[in-house]
This record gives sequence, structure tokens and C-alpha cells, in this order.
Amino acid sequence: MLTDRIAVVTGASRGIGREIALTLAAKGAVVIVNYNGSAAKADEVVKEIEAAGGRGEAVQCNVSDFGAAAGLMEYVVKKYGRVDILVNNAGITRDNLLMKMSEEDFDAVLNTNLKGAFNCIRHISRQMLKQKSGRIINISSVSGVMGNAGQANYCASKAGIIGITKSVARELASRGITSNAVAPGFIDTEMTEVLPDAVKAAATEQIPMKHFGSTKDIANIVAFLASEEAGYITGQVICVDGGMAM
Ligand code: NAP
Repeated sequence: MLTDRIAVVTGASRGIGREIALTLAAKGAVVIVNYNGSAAKADEVVKEIEAAGGRGEAVQCNVSDFGAAAGLMEYVVKKYGRVDILVNNAGITRDNLLMKMSEEDFDAVLNTNLKGAFNCIRHISRQMLKQKSGRIINISSVSGVMGNAGQANYCASKAGIIGITKSVARELASRGITSNAVAPGFIDTEMTEVLPDAVKAAATEQIPMKHFGSTKDIANIVAFLASEEAGYITGQVICVDGGMAM
């Protein structure tokens, strides 16, 4: 159980982040449901948490903004006194072949996916050091492990997530703080819903289990990594991908 743990889940208004928020709340955590633009959807997530007897709050923050991320963490620490669990899940795609990729699309993806995670870790690590405890869980991707044609920006951001995960693990391990990455394969969400059928079929072919995963598959491992039981696991990249990246 995660009774009374304070958890911040970035990008929790939809998809994988939403499921992570619901799962942590169901285990007793107070969940800060972060979003960027989808206020109504984030409110729905909080309502669902409360309807199930849990506690949560929607908080807007564009995590790619260094100052805004500082504000998010300050707000949570002021109101709840601590942050036990940080899940860096917010992410976007702007796919294109490298030769056609604009500078804007490269920067946007790196700024949200990688710098967003850096910003949140940067602004909560001092507090976690004070607490002498904390769980940092970063959502990477098998694309960051294997590479993927048409996703140079996204793959770079997700490989970067693995690098920051391991560096943070080494810096903070002696202070009771763990840092791990979860690398999902293809998961049924709005992000993958938009893929053309031919791309989905080709993707399914690459998955030994021959089907996409569910958001629950990711939320379950995040909840485990956030728990007491996972206290001796740090610096790891756990692929949840139906065997795709083995
Ligand atoms: P999604 O359905 O598109 O949801 C993305 C979430 O990120 C939304 O809640 C969105 O909030 C939030 N977000 C985007 N930019 C943000 C910003 N600047 N600041 C704060 N929040 C922001 O995506 P998903 O499929 O659930 O993916 C979640 C994570 O898993 C991402 O990091 C993604 O790269 C990773 N992943 C997904 C898959 C997959 O197959 N779906 C596979 C591997 C890895 P708003 O709605 O408010 O914009």
C-alpha cells in the first residue's frame, strides 16, 4: 500500500498518466494530477479518484518551463509537506523523418519529454534529500532503447530519460531515494490511436506477444517501483513491451 504518500504524476489527464494516477490513489496515495492544457480531463481523473474513496488534486503546469515546474513543486510541498513519489510521465510526439524534421519539432519534444523530467527532478530533489526518502519514476520508451525510424527527436528524448534516470540514481542512492525508468512498448492510448492502420499492423508484428499493452500494464509496475518493497531497486530500465526489446 501507499497510504498517505504524496505523489506527483505529470501528464496525468489522459492515457498512461491517468491510469498511473488512478492506481497510486487506489493504493492510498494523495495524487497531484498534473496536466498542461486538458483541465476538464484532469478534473475528471480527480473525480474518479474521489469516487473510489481516494484523494487527489488537479494542478496545471507546463513541465517544460523550468520556473513553472519549480512553482508546481513549491505548491505541493507547501500544501502537503513533502513529495514521496514523482512520476515523470508527460510526453509528446512530433514524428517525421530526420531529413524533414523541423528544429521546432525537435526542440518541442526534447523540451517536454526530457527537460520536463529534468525540471521536475531538479526542483524536488532537495526536498527528497531532506526527507531522506523518495521514489522517482521516469517514463521512457522502448523507442529510447531500440531507436525508431521517423522518431529521432522522440527516441533521443527517451534515451536521454534513461541517462538522467541512472545519473540521478547514482547521485541520490545513498540518501534513500530511488530513480528508475519504465520503458513501455506500444500501449493503447490516444498517442498510438492516431497511428495509421498499416503502422499499427507492422508494430504488432514486432511484438512477440502480438498485441499492444494496456495502460494498466504500465501503472502496475509504476505502483510497484513506488512501493516500500522496491526499495533496493534503482537505476533500472524496466521494459513493459510484450517482449519487443528483449
Ligand atoms: P497521451 O495520451 O498523449 O497523454 C500525454 C499526457 O502528457 C497528457 O496528460 C498531457 O496533458 C501531458 N502533457 C503533454 N505535454 C505536457 C507538458 N508540457 N506539461 C505537462 N503535461 C504535458 O500520452 P500517453 O500515450 O499516455 O503517454 C504517456 C507517456 O508514456 C509519454 O511520456 C509517452 O512518451 C510514453 N510512452 C507511451 C507509449 C504508448 O504507446 N502510448 C509508449 C511508450 C512510451 P494535456 O492533455 O493537458 O496536454
